[in-house]
Amino acid sequence: MGIDIRSMTPEELTDALKAMGEPAFRGKQVFTWLHRGVRSFEEMSDIPKALREKLAAAYRLGGLTAAQKQVSRLDGTAKYLWELHDGNCIESVVMRYRHGNTVCISSQVGCRMGCAFCASTLGGKIRDLTAGEMAEQVMFTQADSGLPISNIVLMGIGEPLDNLENVLRFLELVNHPLGMNIGMRHISLSTCGLVPGIRRLAELELQLTLSVSLHAPDSETRSRIMPVNRAYDVDELFAACHDYFARTGRRISFEYAMIDGVNDADWQADLIVKKLRGMPGHVNLIPLNDVVESPLKPSRRVRQFQQRLENQGVTATVRRSLGGDIDASCGQLRRKVMGREEQGQ
Ligand code: SAH
Repeated sequence: MGIDIRSMTPEELTDALKAMGEPAFRGKQVFTWLHRGVRSFEEMSDIPKALREKLAAAYRLGGLTAAQKQVSRLDGTAKYLWELHDGNCIESVVMRYRHGNTVCISSQVGCRMGCAFCASTLGGKIRDLTAGEMAEQVMFTQADSGLPISNIVLMGIGEPLDNLENVLRFLELVNHPLGMNIGMRHISLSTCGLVPGIRRLAELELQLTLSVSLHAPDSETRSRIMPVNRAYDVDELFAACHDYFARTGRRISFEYAMIDGVNDADWQADLIVKKLRGMPGHVNLIPLNDVVESPLKPSRRVRQFQQRLENQGVTATVRRSLGGDIDASCGQLRRKVMGREEQGQ
């Protein structure tokens, strides 16, 4: 059905349009329309009709359609289930914070990282998202919710560093002055710890915020709950994080979902302190979201753990949970809908 035109950079569009015999300025013009969120070529009112028809014949535009939407009555958090052009589903969530509205987007359909506590990985990875599909989550969420989006977090379904080329392209698109023009400092990327990807980001010296899903500071525990640790263990991960900080000067945020009797012991807090030495890390403690399919249970020691980190000079916050009355955490809504389809409802 043609290639996804919303994934193309202004330069690529300019080249493609020149090859169609069009003047150079058309590329930027089309890019501007695409990143304002048009759903059809028809809407590009200052593009000649003949060209709009040629583009419609050559390219695919508009992959995402809203399949379901839930809005929290508690805090206005809105969760979207999007259907893609091939029938697959992904999720995005808009959260309303004092510092601005933030959209959390997915980077893959499913995930192949296999973390024991995560709903997104249960059915494995189906495919990568294109840059255009990631950009559409931002612009369509903004259009539908009416909330101007100022921040993006790549923390939805999927592992962004397992789809790095498309993610880098997505960053270029949303950061572009003719596009949504969202500054790198307003974008966070969360990874389970794919070390080569972290090293690549460091080389690029992007000013985004890197979040690392740590969840355990010792290799034995981490390998048990995060299979990625068997490929890149805690020591390799921390070495990459220290290098990342040295290169970019950007403080890393470490995500830590607290699991009862697994990663919430005092010695584990002490080990985090030790491994962070030399780098101004920030630990974000997350009360584990209960995933029905998983035997892991939320910790009851979140405050003690936080205190122990703070007492030793490590900044630790407890993540406020939004959207508690809707299926707002990763992969939960998609699982529910997939389950229903499997049962033929
Ligand atoms: N693949 C990326 C981004 C997606 S997950 C990553 O691993 O970072 C976003 C965050 O939610 C990660 O920190 C992940 O570990 C965490 N998470 C997943 N399932 C969770 C659960 N049941 N409770 C709390 N946090 C969870």
